[in-house]
Amino acid sequence: MLNIVIFGAPGSGKGTQSERIVERFGLNHISTGDVLRAEIKNGTELGKLAKSYIDEGQLIPDDLMINILADVLDSFKDSKGVIFDGFPRTINQAEELKKMLAARGQEITLMLDLNVPEEELVERLINRGKSSGRADDNEETIRKRLDVYYSQTCPLIDWYKVEGKYCLIEGQGEMNKITEMICEQINILK
Ligand code: AMP
Repeated sequence: MLNIVIFGAPGSGKGTQSERIVERFGLNHISTGDVLRAEIKNGTELGKLAKSYIDEGQLIPDDLMINILADVLDSFKDSKGVIFDGFPRTINQAEELKKMLAARGQEITLMLDLNVPEEELVERLINRGKSSGRADDNEETIRKRLDVYYSQTCPLIDWYKVEGKYCLIEGQGEMNKITEMICEQINILK
C-alpha cells in the first residue's frame, strides 16, 4: 500500500500533482477541499457549516474533518493506496490519521512537501481565482489562508520529519519536472 500525504500551502500544486500521481500509480485520491465543495454545491447541512469557515479562510474543526475523512477512507475497496490532498492540516489531524491507518493495518508511506515561496503562491492563487470560481480565491481570503497555513499547518513538517516520512520537493518551476521528481521518490519506495 502506498499512502501518500501531498503537502504544501494553498496554491502549491497539490491538486494538479495528485491527479498525475493517481493516474501513474492507480491510487485513490482524497481531496478534503473537494469533498467540502461538493457538500456546499449539494446544499447539505455539512456544506452550509463548511462554507462559513471556508469563506473566512479558516479551517473546519478537526473532529468534523476527521469523521469526514474516515467515511471517505471506508468507501475505498481493494485500494492500492491513497493520496491525501489537503489533509492533515493540523497536528491533531495527523495524529488521528496515523491512528485511523494503524487500525486498518496501514501507515503513511511518505509525506511530499511541495515548497513554493509565499509571493508566488499569492500570484498563482489570484490568477486561479480568475477562472476557478472559488469564493476563497480572492486576495483577502488568500492572505488569511496563508496565515492559517503558516501557523497551524506548517508544524506538520517537523512532525513528519520525526516520523521519518518527510520529503521536500521544490514546487517552483516546470510542472512536468515536478511530477517526475515526485514519481522518482515514490518509485524508490515501491
Ligand atoms: P483546499 O481546497 O485544500 O485549499 O481547501 C479549501 C478549504 O477547505 C480550506 O481553506 C479549509 O477551510 C477547508 N479544508 C480543507 N481541508 C481541510 C482540513 N484538512 N482541515 C480543515 N479544513 C479543511
